[in-house]
Amino acid sequence: ACMASDKIKELAEQIRTGNRRALARAITLVESGREDHRAQALDLLQASGSDRQALRIGLSGTPGVGKSTFIESFGLMLTGMGKTVAVLAVDPSSARSGGSILGDKTRMDLLSRDPKAFIRPSPSQSQLGGVARRTREAVALCEAAGYDIVLIETVGVGQSETVVAQMSDLFLLLLAPAGGDELQGVKRGIMEIADLILVNKADGDLKPQALRTYADYAGALRLLRKRPQDPDGFPKALTVSALEADRLQEAWEAMSELMAWRRTQGVWDRTRTDQARYWFSEEVHIQLLERLHRDPEIRAHIAMMEDEVARGAISATAAAADVIRKL
Ligand code: GDP
Repeated sequence: ACMASDKIKELAEQIRTGNRRALARAITLVESGREDHRAQALDLLQASGSDRQALRIGLSGTPGVGKSTFIESFGLMLTGMGKTVAVLAVDPSSARSGGSILGDKTRMDLLSRDPKAFIRPSPSQSQLGGVARRTREAVALCEAAGYDIVLIETVGVGQSETVVAQMSDLFLLLLAPAGGDELQGVKRGIMEIADLILVNKADGDLKPQALRTYADYAGALRLLRKRPQDPDGFPKALTVSALEADRLQEAWEAMSELMAWRRTQGVWDRTRTDQARYWFSEEVHIQLLERLHRDPEIRAHIAMMEDEVARGAISATAAAADVIRKL
């Protein structure tokens, strides 16, 4: 349904007063691929304002490490402290049936019924560019709604970790206890973007293994060059048990320490500014591509040039330049 501008203003107002159904509706609007919805979404984002800031926490980990268990326990701890928490997900894998890591209703059962929490399943979507935009806009809406903390979860397929890191103030990597030779299995890049490595399942029979895994990662982190965005001792590794809600307080204290330091050092603001620049540049690219694909005339021209390139009549570079001239 088309929404008039006074309806948009009303929706923006409801979001700002913390109305969760309004927030859910607004996120549905930003997730829509329809062009008229896009225009309304942009109006809504403008109207809901950007004066509120949440702590945005990115969280990554392979399936089975305990992300949903962690989010449930950690989220409940935070709401128990009086904080409000929104949970979003970036899930680039279209192969997954239903396409959603948060689709399962049994996940985060307690947190989803907590009035201080808002949980949003990820939309099924194959293109990471589109997912990134939607998630970014959903984050902005959660901030407008006044949430203290926005958790953005990803399974870390392909570039999704980078995408989430680029919209987070803080990035957590959740790991499971592993055998000694599995350290190399973690992509080097993620060690560089993680602020906190949490070795989960440090309980029961798994505890000794978790402690060994923790020691391996703590050792590996000490070998990393100190990053300008960190105080001494960061990035840091810790053990936790999501299942038993053990040492989550320590994890939160480490996050708070890091955030306090970054705020006083101006790192927080600088990071957000850099992220805004990054997303602007990304959007220019994406929107240019969208224009190329939307215009039937240009699309036909692309198809023709593709054939020309294929039969060697023109170079790829020259053909691309020719397409761009059509814009
Ligand atoms: P996700 O795929 O990363 O979201 O992982 P889940 O949260 O669904 O957890 C996968 C499995 O690991 C489930 O059987 C959980 O019960 C179990 N699990 C999660 N956290 C812990 C933990 O702290 N300790 C133990 N022992 N098991 C855990």
